[in-house]
Amino acid sequence: MAISQEAKRHAARVVRQLGRHYPDAGCALSFRTPLQLLVATILSAQCTDERVNVVTGDLFQKYRTAADYARASQSRLEQEIRSTGFFRNKAKSIRACCQALLERYDGELPREIDALVELPGIGRKTANVVLGTAFGIASGVVVDTHVARLSRRMGLTENKDPNKIERDLMERVPKRQWVAFGHRMIHHGRRICTARRPRCDECPMGDFCPRIGVA
Ligand code: SF4
Repeated sequence: MAISQEAKRHAARVVRQLGRHYPDAGCALSFRTPLQLLVATILSAQCTDERVNVVTGDLFQKYRTAADYARASQSRLEQEIRSTGFFRNKAKSIRACCQALLERYDGELPREIDALVELPGIGRKTANVVLGTAFGIASGVVVDTHVARLSRRMGLTENKDPNKIERDLMERVPKRQWVAFGHRMIHHGRRICTARRPRCDECPMGDFCPRIGVA
């Protein structure tokens, strides 16, 4: 179903205000290579970026290539990433993903979203983070917990499923803005439109945000 002009205008206001208030918002994870960003993004699930950056400070010294991760022992990698939480699954995902990278792409990351999401443990969110932030490719909109919450509150979607939210955002936000929009929404979600206590009184979106679901 085609979206209305009003819905497009509303999204344009959100995009404009985010751009005004967070012009330089970027990724808070430390990385130098696409592979490092992939690993950091896997580690960031249910963990703060600050903690991930502490852990990867050491990790990236020891593991330089996909082959290094693929050959790592499960138990050793688990211990090295333990403080990020869910360390068993994360270690499994990193190793399996890097093994697949070696087998299919000679250890390099592909630059197509369809290829990335075929890798074990990689969903659209991680693929969009890597493509948008490491390669500058707008493959979609990153939908994490902040983007999902804010999109509903602001009336940009009525959906709860991240894939459907992403589809709604891709229809409303111009493609050239997809990458920056994701970063800016995450910044806004951390600073103003927090999960527990959104600060609507001081929010730059206050004049036009419908505040859906906000008490
Ligand atoms: S007005 Fe309130 S609900 Fe809307 S974006 Fe701002 S903080 Fe969030």
